Amino acid sequence: MSDSHQHQGHGHHAGEGHKDGICDCIPSWYVDHLGQAGMPYVKIEDYAVPPEESHGSLFLPDRLAKGYHVEELRGGVYWVSAGWYDCMFVSTGNGVIVVDAPPSLGERLLDAIAEVTDEPVTHMIYSHWHADHIGAASMFGPDIIRVAHEKTRELLQRFPDPDRPVPTVTFSKDMTLEVNGFKLELSYKGQNHSEGNIFIYAPEQKVLVAIDILAPGWVAFKDCDSSENISGWIEAHDQILEYDFDFIICGHVSRYGTREDVLTAKEYTDDIIRFSYEALHTVELEHFVKDMGEGPYRAAFRAAEENFFAALTNYVTQKMLEVKTSNGQLWQERLNGADVMTKNNAYTMLQKIRLEKSHNGYMKRDGAPEGFFL
Ligand SMILES: [Zn+2]
Repeated sequence: MSDSHQHQGHGHHAGEGHKDGICDCIPSWYVDHLGQAGMPYVKIEDYAVPPEESHGSLFLPDRLAKGYHVEELRGGVYWVSAGWYDCMFVSTGNGVIVVDAPPSLGERLLDAIAEVTDEPVTHMIYSHWHADHIGAASMFGPDIIRVAHEKTRELLQRFPDPDRPVPTVTFSKDMTLEVNGFKLELSYKGQNHSEGNIFIYAPEQKVLVAIDILAPGWVAFKDCDSSENISGWIEAHDQILEYDFDFIICGHVSRYGTREDVLTAKEYTDDIIRFSYEALHTVELEHFVKDMGEGPYRAAFRAAEENFFAALTNYVTQKMLEVKTSNGQLWQERLNGADVMTKNNAYTMLQKIRLEKSHNGYMKRDGAPEGFFL
């Protein structure tokens, strides 16, 4: 990143240091003078060194050499990772079933399959409609069977993408896909991270695929994994634990997980929920609006609102970074990214509690209940 860090926060404008169109200092796209209107930049030393277990396959020799890692979990079920993404395929003895095809793996997924079997890909399952997990689906050609939830088909018909062909087989609640005697149980339990996001389970091998709910060894990615329905996302942790599984593929971080990882993720999520409710009942909006009489009302209100949400978010984040977790460690010692992304997860949880959970009553004729805000 050149020497741009030394200019951080000094009001330099992007484009300075250009000579004859060649950037020798700050790239033209680098904006660092927005102050409170922009996003802050960070430095490596702002954050803890992550726990080593969270590295997954990242530094394995075969991955460094080939650009991907493929590993048989059990009985013909393979886990593949590359480019920070994970997916699965199954060798049935008479055709391969692929579960997701992230564009960051792309054609390296074809190499990974060819490395372990000569069988052709006959089926593909879409976990959900997001391009970052199935954006290479078209590389299997037009003739395979594509299975997904009916919501996924609806979304891909509504927002067509040649790289994500519309599924040929859909279901609404549960479906068993059986190919050459190999069974995969597909289940939709309602909207969570996205509409149509399904669980894919190999019961005999005890392998579960549940994408974008949690990340083994990591905190949930920013904003509770960009989830659409936080109540459904929270519930999904329990739905995962209802399965009898030894391996779980979660879609990210170049790692598969175990039951233990899910329990840890659930504990982290439960802590955020607990501290969010505590914050909503502790932080006082009045503290920030009481001086609004002076100055332009709209600006004062905006500032009060921003500070109120900042206070809520910082309250939760501080509690999360201080709490002793069930094994005696701090979250930032236990999960990669806790000191980076907890603030984003806290902010989203706070906002979604406001939207999805009735938690502080409603306006009465004789005035607002204690702690009331919209
Ligand atoms: Zn997604």
